[in-house]
Amino acid sequence: MPDTPCLVSISRTLAGLDGAASVITMSGVVQRVQQVLPSVRADLEDLVRIPSVWADPARRDEVARSAEAVAKLLSDAGLPDVKIVSEGGAPAVIAHYPAPAGAPTVLLYAHHDVQPEGDPTQWNSAPFEPQERDGRLYGRGTADDKAGIATHLAAIRAFDGTPPVGVTVFVEGEEESGSPSLGALLDAHRDALAADVIVIADSDNWSTETPALTVSLRGLADCVVEVATLDHGLHSGLWGGVVPDALSVLVRLLASLHDDAGNVAVAGLHEASAADVDRGEGWVREESGLLDGVSEIGSGSVVQRMWAKPAITVIGIDTTPIDKSSNTLIPRARAKISMRVAPGGDARAHLDALTRHLEKHTPWGAQVTVTPGDVGQPYAIDATGPVYDAARAAFRQAWGTDPVDMGMGGSIPFIAEFAAAFPAATILVTGVEDPATQAHSINESLHLGVFEKAATAEALLLERLGQLDR
Ligand SMILES: [Zn+2]
Repeated sequence: MPDTPCLVSISRTLAGLDGAASVITMSGVVQRVQQVLPSVRADLEDLVRIPSVWADPARRDEVARSAEAVAKLLSDAGLPDVKIVSEGGAPAVIAHYPAPAGAPTVLLYAHHDVQPEGDPTQWNSAPFEPQERDGRLYGRGTADDKAGIATHLAAIRAFDGTPPVGVTVFVEGEEESGSPSLGALLDAHRDALAADVIVIADSDNWSTETPALTVSLRGLADCVVEVATLDHGLHSGLWGGVVPDALSVLVRLLASLHDDAGNVAVAGLHEASAADVDRGEGWVREESGLLDGVSEIGSGSVVQRMWAKPAITVIGIDTTPIDKSSNTLIPRARAKISMRVAPGGDARAHLDALTRHLEKHTPWGAQVTVTPGDVGQPYAIDATGPVYDAARAAFRQAWGTDPVDMGMGGSIPFIAEFAAAFPAATILVTGVEDPATQAHSINESLHLGVFEKAATAEALLLERLGQLDR
């Protein structure tokens, strides 16, 4: 890779970290990752050339082709037992290397499907033809999540296919479509997938210089609220000012969901506390596209609001569209409300609290009906213990700095599915993305320095897990 830092500088960083207490020489593993990275990078580029968009029925063959390519890479890397499986959904790959006596088994997860590319003319280079510019590799899936596959591949190749722990690689094919058959896959292949440690390489890093372990995710609950005031529309001149219209009722009701500062005003919701980290000033405006003069909402630090507090958003309204409007009092109107649930809260109880709020705050005695929608539980990982100690040490060695315990404002329901299927396993959520990756958007890219550090950290993690007492 063109931007690979020289070995000497890595060696110096490592020595500087641990000082005299434990002298770290250039680890053989670090060196091996350096050696295998160019070939892994080439294989990553080949994977990116396959438009494996499961969401597009016309590209299901490409998803099958991508599963075969992944299976071949893992088999060529030396894993003795590789199969392509499906349970009514997209093909997934399961590859296994048995644990040496006394060593734990580590499940390495990634997904080989990608988001649709959107309008290709909006990209600065062809979405399925990887191109390097300024230390980043551009293309759909270069990061999310074909770089996750490549990270696992690098870690395995660094040990010449004989890692010091048992390794099961599980590469799913429909994550970008919500993993509908993941539960069935986990059920059908429970024995093959059982592991002591699960590494899910599909998340973000704090920056290109600082790694992160994702330790919490918000949950999700939504509902539709409908209000009715009249049994039919009425002339607004004859009746306006005397009886209420449903849209005015709905607007007042929706306004009651936040206080004047923009904090959620529904009683009984859970708030957690986010790690004490800060990315400095100005990034919210820059990265969100907040318009001039528009202020942020809510109180507390950005990460507290983003990861650890509930949020409520009105995501749709059904009412009379403007071009069909007349001077009529609208008899009924409805809105869809989406709520994010802080880690530690119960999404169903939150939906009940929201329902009670809506029923209580509907003005002027209007009739109100709340129809519950989807519920996804939040997830908080207990990020302590020997596996986390090993992971933090591996990250520190690879990156030259401690990982940030990161929350995530969004929800990845499949992490809770893994936790439920393998309750005794320790789950590590890692990743190769950085704040500039633009996953799911146009011009997705992988920072090649981050890729190298993520691959190094994962190889070092396997080495350290092989040394753990069981
Ligand atoms: Zn992903």
